[in-house]
Amino acid sequence: MERKQRSSLIAIFGIVIFLGSMFLLLPLVEYYLLALILMFVGVIMIGIGSAMFKNFDNSLDQPAEDCYYCNGTGRIDGLDGPVTCARCGGTGVFSSDSD
Ligand SMILES: [Zn+2]
Repeated sequence: MERKQRSSLIAIFGIVIFLGSMFLLLPLVEYYLLALILMFVGVIMIGIGSAMFKNFDNSLDQPAEDCYYCNGTGRIDGLDGPVTCARCGGTGVFSSDSD
C-alpha cells in the first residue's frame, strides 16, 4: 500500500472514531469519559494522517508527481459533474513551484 493511501486511511479512520464516539458513546452517561478519550484519539489520528499526507507531498524530490488534489486525474467532482482541477490546471501533475 502506498504511504499516501495509508496516511489518508489513518485520517479517515480518525474521522470514523471521532464521529462514532460522538454519536454513539457521548449520549451514554456511563461512556462519557471513554467517548471523550476516543474523540481525542480520533482528532490526533486525523492530525497525524493529514500531516503525513502533506509531508509526503512536500518532501518529494521528483519534479513531477500526481496532483494530490485530483489524484493525478486532472479532474475533480464538481456540482455538475467532473470539472478541471484548479490546483494542477487539469494536467494531473503537482509541481511545487505553483504552490
Ligand atoms: Zn489536480
